[in-house]
Amino acid sequence: MNEAGETQELRITPRQALGRLKPYTAGKPIWEVQQEYGLDHVIKLASNENSLGPSPKALQAIQKQLPDLHRYPDERASGLTQALAEHLGLTANQFIVTNGGDELIMLISRAYLELGDEIVVPDPTFSEYEFGAFLMSGTVIKVPLREQFAFSVEDILAAITERTKIVYLCTPNNPTGTYISELEMKKLLDRLPARVLVVIDTAYRHYATEPDYSDGIDYIKMGYPVITLNTFSKIYGLAGIRVGYGAASEGIIRTLLQVKEPFNVNVLAQAAATAALRDDEHVQSSCRMNEQGRQQIYDGLDRLSIPYSESMSNFILAELGEHAEILYFKLLENGVIVRYAKGWGLPRHIRISVGTSEENQRFLEVLEEILELQD
Ligand SMILES: *Cc1c(COP(=O)(O)O)cnc(C)c1O
Repeated sequence: MNEAGETQELRITPRQALGRLKPYTAGKPIWEVQQEYGLDHVIKLASNENSLGPSPKALQAIQKQLPDLHRYPDERASGLTQALAEHLGLTANQFIVTNGGDELIMLISRAYLELGDEIVVPDPTFSEYEFGAFLMSGTVIKVPLREQFAFSVEDILAAITERTKIVYLCTPNNPTGTYISELEMKKLLDRLPARVLVVIDTAYRHYATEPDYSDGIDYIKMGYPVITLNTFSKIYGLAGIRVGYGAASEGIIRTLLQVKEPFNVNVLAQAAATAALRDDEHVQSSCRMNEQGRQQIYDGLDRLSIPYSESMSNFILAELGEHAEILYFKLLENGVIVRYAKGWGLPRHIRISVGTSEENQRFLEVLEEILELQD
C-alpha cells in the first residue's frame, strides 16, 4: 500500500478494451443452490446440458486414456479431426478442434479483428461473440430479431459497413430457439461482400427438426466464406471436459491454427469426443428425449397460459411477464434452476433447458405452485 492507500498493483493499467467486458453469467451450479438454500434435491435446467449424461462410449474412452496422462496431447487432435472428416464429408484439414466452442470464438476474434473492426450479431444471442470482439477492441453491431424472434436477412444486410469483418448467425439461436431457414441463409450468403466471414454457430444443430434447417456444412463445401461452430458440450453431454470444433475451408483453418495454443485440447477430451461422435445410439436417444421433453414443457406452459417461443433447440424461452424475476428466484428456492433472461434484454422471460421427463415435470409442478401462491 502507498500513502493514498492504493496497492501498487492498481497502478498497472490493463488494456482499455477490458473496460467494456461484461462478466459471463453462467447458469448457477447445483452445489451452489444446495448450499445457498439448504436443499438436498436440486435440478438444473439452466445451461442446456444433456440430462441423459455423457455418452457411455466417451466414458470408456476416457478410462482407456488414463495411463497415458503423462504424455502431451496431440497438438492437432488428428484422431478426432479424422473422425470429423468422415462424419461430415470434409477433409481433415478443414477442422480445428478447440477447448470448447467458446475457444473457437476467441480464436476467430484474435485472428480476424483489428481495432475498430465490426461484427454483426443478431440480438438477443449468445454473449461470447461480443466478448471476443470487445477483447480485440472491435465494435459490435446488434441487429434486433423481428417479431417472434425471426431472423431478417434484410436487417442484417442493412447493418453491413466497410468495417464489417464477421457476421455471426447462431442457428438455432440461443436463447430464442429460433433458426434461419436454408433459403434465407443462402440469400444472405449470396449478398454479403466476399470480405465478410460468416460464423454459423450450430451448437444445437442436432435438435433442429424442421426440414429447412441448414447446419451450414453444404455452404463450406460450395466455397462460401463460412465457418461453422460446433460443440461436444450439448447433445454429446461433455460440457465438463471442454471440447468443440470449427469446420471451414483449409485457408480459414490455417489462419486459426496460427493463433491457437499448441496443446489447447487435453488428451481425455480428444478421446471422449472421438468416441461420442460415433455413439449414434446416445445421440438418438438424446434427440428423442428432447423432442418429447419439448412437447411436455409446451403442454405444461399451455395449461398455465404462459406464452413461449417454439424451439428448434433443447431449451425454451418462456414469457412469465412482469414478475419473471421473482418467479425465477422462487423456482431457485424450490430447487429448480432455470436461466433468467434479463441479461439478454428480456426481463420478462426465463429460458428453461429441456431435461428428463421427471425434471420437466418437477419444473412444471413447482412453477404451477408458485403461480398459485402469487394470485
Ligand atoms: C454452449 C454454446 C456454445 C459452446 O459452448 P462450449 O461449452 O464452449 O463448447 C457455443 N455457442 C452457443 C450458442 C452455445 O449455446
